[in-house]
Amino acid sequence: MSAHSPKELRTLDYCTWCPRLCHFSCPSALGEASEDASAWGLMTLARTLDRNEMPATQASLERLWSCASCYRCQSFCKHGNDVPTVLATARANAVRAGALPMSLGPLAEQVATRGAAVDDPDGLNRLLARERSVAEKAVVATFFPGCDHASSSEGHTRVRRTLALLGELLGGEVKLAWREDQVCCGGTAKRLGLDDAQRRQELGTDSGTSVNTHPRITDCADLAIRDGWTSLWSVLAAHSSELGDRCGDLSPVTVALHGGCRERRLADTSREEIAVLEATGIQVVTTRAVNDVDECCAGDPVYREARPDASLRAAAAAADSWHGVDGERVTSACRCAAQFTAAGTPVRSLLDVVLERCA
Ligand code: SF4
Ligand code: SF4
Repeated sequence: MSAHSPKELRTLDYCTWCPRLCHFSCPSALGEASEDASAWGLMTLARTLDRNEMPATQASLERLWSCASCYRCQSFCKHGNDVPTVLATARANAVRAGALPMSLGPLAEQVATRGAAVDDPDGLNRLLARERSVAEKAVVATFFPGCDHASSSEGHTRVRRTLALLGELLGGEVKLAWREDQVCCGGTAKRLGLDDAQRRQELGTDSGTSVNTHPRITDCADLAIRDGWTSLWSVLAAHSSELGDRCGDLSPVTVALHGGCRERRLADTSREEIAVLEATGIQVVTTRAVNDVDECCAGDPVYREARPDASLRAAAAAADSWHGVDGERVTSACRCAAQFTAAGTPVRSLLDVVLERCA
């Protein structure tokens, strides 16, 4: 019996019989220099395996992880095919067959035990300890920061400052929606093909009464597409005049902006970001548009672990687009910014720039 839903089976059919209309857009096909790693190649493989038309060897199953889950193909697909979601089902099936690639073992272990990689657990505990001092009656909203913020002391500092700024803008306390051992909403688990993906997908909706009774704000694209969650940038944009009063008159700063691919597509925060930038005196000299060929750095953590060399090649191609551009290099929503640093192009978070100016 197929592991895929009827809708996913239809998606597999469309891709398999498609004349590869989106292949030019695919960072994994670019990084791996192979049509096998394109949406067409991967979906054809998934369909063939699902129909038992080829042996499910370790090598054939491992190829299912050759997708950076960037959703670029969807931008160009006449059917709006959701390739990453279909591949997640195929990966889960492969994991059940014991074919999780060895290179993904450590990441899978981290996600299973901590939700995400945590480089600074003491800092995370200090951050979460704040929650115990927040009076429930003062809470006006909850904030789920997204797992990349859990992975470094820099991210913890960003979360602290974001909570403070949101509290001032909203006139009360903003509470973290993280729990001690769960700092990932499940998106990474899903992309890994882990069986507990669904449980993690539900995180952030059951971690305390505040989460269920107050506006829910998130800096995580996976969560921003779910009912009831509002993207952080749309909240900041709604308060852009207050932000402008705080810092709009400061000397303008100039940035070269790179938007994240999955985040841009899932949460579509571009308009809100621009509104915040205009209000706060941050000038953008260039931005990577969603449809630019070199827009995606293929830095999805799962892809990065599965195909490190190809991932870095795609990052280098994306970083090339910044050559000769004035202004500090920043990324607005890209979860994969570390890729650029690895490719020799230091990049900062746009949120940090806004917080430094206006918080
Ligand atoms: S995602 Fe759409 S455009 Fe790309 S191969 Fe599949 S059907 Fe074709
Ligand atoms: S989601 Fe991105 S990496 Fe995956 S097949 Fe589509 S374009 Fe390629």
